[in-house]
Order: sequence, then structure tokens, then C-alpha cells
Amino acid sequence: LGRKLNAALSSLNRAPIVDEKVVDATLKEITAALLESDVNVKLVASLRQKVKAKVKAAFESSDKSKDANRRNTIQKAVFDELVHLVDPGVEPYKPTKGKTNVIMAVGLQGNGKTTTCTKLAAHLTRLDNPRQKRRLHTSFKKERFEVIIVDTSGRHKQESELFEEMVQIGEAVDPNMTVLILDASIGQAAEAQSRAFKETADFGAIIVTKMDGHAKGGGAISAVAATKTPIIFLGVGEHLHDLDKFSPQPFISKLLGLGDMQGLMEHMQDLATQNPDKQKEMAKKLEEGKLSIRDWREQISNVMNMGPISKIASMIPGLPQELLQGSDEEGTLRMKRMIYITDSMNTLELDSDGSPFMEMGKDGKPIGLTWRVTRVARGSGTSVREVEELLCQYRMMANMAKQAGGKNGWLSAMQKMQ
Ligand code: GDP
Ligand code: MG
Repeated sequence: LGRKLNAALSSLNRAPIVDEKVVDATLKEITAALLESDVNVKLVASLRQKVKAKVKAAFESSDKSKDANRRNTIQKAVFDELVHLVDPGVEPYKPTKGKTNVIMAVGLQGNGKTTTCTKLAAHLTRLDNPRQKRRLHTSFKKERFEVIIVDTSGRHKQESELFEEMVQIGEAVDPNMTVLILDASIGQAAEAQSRAFKETADFGAIIVTKMDGHAKGGGAISAVAATKTPIIFLGVGEHLHDLDKFSPQPFISKLLGLGDMQGLMEHMQDLATQNPDKQKEMAKKLEEGKLSIRDWREQISNVMNMGPISKIASMIPGLPQELLQGSDEEGTLRMKRMIYITDSMNTLELDSDGSPFMEMGKDGKPIGLTWRVTRVARGSGTSVREVEELLCQYRMMANMAKQAGGKNGWLSAMQKMQ
């Protein structure tokens, strides 16, 4: 799904002119990709309409705006609507300290309840991960968190018996939160299944398992919409640590090849041990949403020094998915090209948020590109289109950093959780 969505956005980036035709073509590709991965037809149709309405309004309000700006509008609309799909706007239960928190897992047999309960326990303790041990001491253990995870068997031929047992266990353990464990591979059936469980067990969170397989996963997204319940984790393998924290923005961002800010933050924390001052500064900028082109460039070159790009590159915001295709050597070459482009920028440009490259209209909105773009393209032996694309990617990243940062952003929410 990710590759297809990214392909749609990439062809949008390559289109010389962004008019209604291009918008329609992009939306067609995006809806096809979503349908193929089993997202509910109605949801896809409504997404398409909403994006279209947003883009249309933007086009009409600033008809002088040029293609780069239009691309941004479309990308942002797609991004926001996809986030909306996986974000029911409900906060999941968070374990509180000083009391016993009971979490109960429900779901059909084989969906991965037992596996997930084990993973969850490992996640909450992280006893076998020395790096996470520090966090354990500052949060769960020191602050006297108690979490009890209750697995259920779900081994019944009749669904009614399963639900009956679930109710009985629920009454006995009185859970603070019930989690529905959904297998990503069930596709469209996820919606009916989650509705049925919601009626009996009223779960407050969903964990989608087997996201690592060739599962389509889109059905699970539809389940979120159908039950207005947040996904909290994804199961991504059979092993103890194959559990990823789920948050709507980073998930969609990664899906679209726009990077994973959360992963990046974590990675930067690792790097902090190597160069504490520098990385602290960078993390602060990320939080404040004030990353300049120079900072972004530094992230890219950091990645290049860190070994296999395929592993790390997907975390860097604004890196196109194409960079990840092909061999690591090819990926390095492509990244070098991005570095070449920024190498041809001067101090003013590097320390900017990209605005020197934009020609502003009277209303303060960008209406085109300045001569600087041509100069950079010449200097780096690339094309105006490539420089424009790089600026586009940078701006997407910067927008996301801004959304992620601040008091209400998910970055701060994430830090509070730790
Ligand atoms: P339960 O019946 O709901 O308790 O399901 P289990 O926990 O016994 O899991 C059923 C099967 O799914 C086992 O073979 C697990 O290894 C496998 N499984 C569970 N979660 C994942 C996952 O995230 N990825 C993959 N690939 N397999 C998983
Ligand atoms: Mg089991």
C-alpha cells in the first residue's frame, strides 16, 4: 500500500503542471491503492471527496499559486485525510501509577492474543533491553505502575460461547481496558468482526497483528472507523520485540514515504550518546518545528554514515520512497545527489526554511520560484525540477515537524508517555 501511495504522490511531483486533471489522476491512483488493500469502499469514497473539496477550495482561493504550492496542498490534504482514517479522535486508556491496571485481550482464536500479551508485557518491562532499562526505572517501576495483562482463550466453535466466556472473564477480572486483537489478514471481515466484539466486550483499543505478512491491513483501518476505537500497537512479527507503537501521524507519514519522526527521534536519542550537544540541539529544533534546510541536510548525511540505508532512510522525513528501492549502493547515490543540491546552496539559503527560493505574491503567498533555484540546479549539475522536488520534500517535512512539535503535538504527547 505504502509503495503505491508513494508512487501516486511521486507522479504528482513529476507532473509539470498541476491542474484538475493531475489531481484526478493522483486521486484515482490513491483510491485504487486503498481499495486494493481492503479499506472500506465508503471510507475511500469519502476520503476522495474530502481531498477533492479541499484542493478545489485551495485552487480557487489562490488561482495565482503555482504548481509547487498546489502539489503541497494536495499532499497535505491526502496526508490529513489518511490520518483521519486511522485516528478516531479518542484517547486510549493509559496505565496510571499507584494502582493496579488490568488489561484484557479479546479476539478470535489465532488472531495473536497470546503472542501479543507476551509482547505487551515485554514492552512494558523491557527487562531484556539494557537501553530501555533506564526508562523502566524512571517510569513503570520507580513510579509503581502495576499492570496485569489477561489473556483469553477464545477457543470455541460457537461464537456465542466465545462471547459468553468473554463476558464471564470480564466480570471476574474487571479490566480497566479491553483490547481487541485483530489479524490484519482478515481484510474486509475486520469491520463486521470488530462490530460484533464491540457489542459484547466494548474494547477501548485495538492491536492489529501480522502487519508484517503480505496482509492488506486496510480492513483493520476500516475497523477503526467502524468502532471509533484507536489502534495502540501493531504486531509486526512472531518475536517478542515485534511490536510497534502506533500513532496515526507517524504511521501515515511512513506509509507515504514521508518519514517517521518518532523513529527519528528515538534514533537521535541513540546518536546523542555519540555527540550529546549537537543532537540535543537538533532534537530541540525538531520539537519546535524549526528545522532549516541545513539541519535536514545534516540528517541525510548522518544516515549516509550509519550503514545500510535501507534500514534507516525510511525514518527520515521527506525522503522519497524511491531512495529505498534498489540496492543500498543505488540508494546512497541518490542521497548523495540530494547532498550535492544542498552543497550548491549558500549560507542564507541553507539556514532558511526554503523561503528564499519562493517568489511571494502581494498576498504573501508563494507564486513561483526565484532565480536561486536555477543557480542551485546549475551549480549541482541537476535540474530545476530536481531542486524543486527537494524543496517540496523539505517543506513537507518542515510542516510535519511543526505539527508534531508544540505543546499539543504528538511529539510532546509521546514524551509524556515515556
Ligand atoms: P491466539 O489464538 O489469539 O492466542 O493467537 P496466538 O498468539 O497463539 O497466535 C497465533 C499465530 O499467529 C502464532 O503462530 C503466532 O506466532 C502468530 N502471530 C501472532 N502475532 C503475529 C504477528 O504480528 N506477526 C506474525 N507474522 N505472526 C504472528
Ligand atoms: Mg491464545
